[in-house]
Amino acid sequence: AASVKRRKIAVLGSRSVGKSSLVKQFIENHFVDAYYPTIESTFAKSVKYKGVEYDCHIIDTAGQDEYSPINSQYAIGIHGYILVYSIASRSSFDMIQIVYDKIIDFSGLSELPCVVVGTKVDLAPTGRQVETADGEKLAKANQASFIEASAKENTNVGKVFELCLAEIEKRATPNQTD
Ligand code: GDP
Repeated sequence: AASVKRRKIAVLGSRSVGKSSLVKQFIENHFVDAYYPTIESTFAKSVKYKGVEYDCHIIDTAGQDEYSPINSQYAIGIHGYILVYSIASRSSFDMIQIVYDKIIDFSGLSELPCVVVGTKVDLAPTGRQVETADGEKLAKANQASFIEASAKENTNVGKVFELCLAEIEKRATPNQTD
């Protein structure tokens, strides 16, 4: 019988970019307009991707900024990262490289299994502050996947998590099962 693979995924990025909304849409299939700041929550979901059963544990973090940088706890025991910015906030985009570099420092890895996500794409074109090409370029420079998404309109939400699983698999050793 095929074994179930456990995957721990951390969702990071500036506050209010839509991290919780993305996770909520993925786990519970709904969207809330109100903003409730998160301290930290963990969610579990089983997903089947390319014929393999994944038991995903998703850690929705409080959010990082230049005054409360990333905690070293997010460097240990995490299989994959989802780095979220809002396409309507240039400063949230600028935080992505800072967060990426901090995790690299803490983990000692040379690159991270990671997806860069430009969310709130439903606010384009009027609200757009970050061009798609800029997101793509940043992701490419860090060997990461890239996608734009909207939790509000449920655009590419499942795809975000599939890309993250693919990034993890890309770097997993052939007989790694846990
Ligand atoms: P977090 O702090 O990064 O977890 O952000 P939240 O998920 O709490 O979202 C912050 C605010 O942005 C809330 O008012 C959400 O309703 C709103 N929001 C989240 N995702 C989207 C989206 O895809 N589109 C739009 N237009 N608003 C969103």
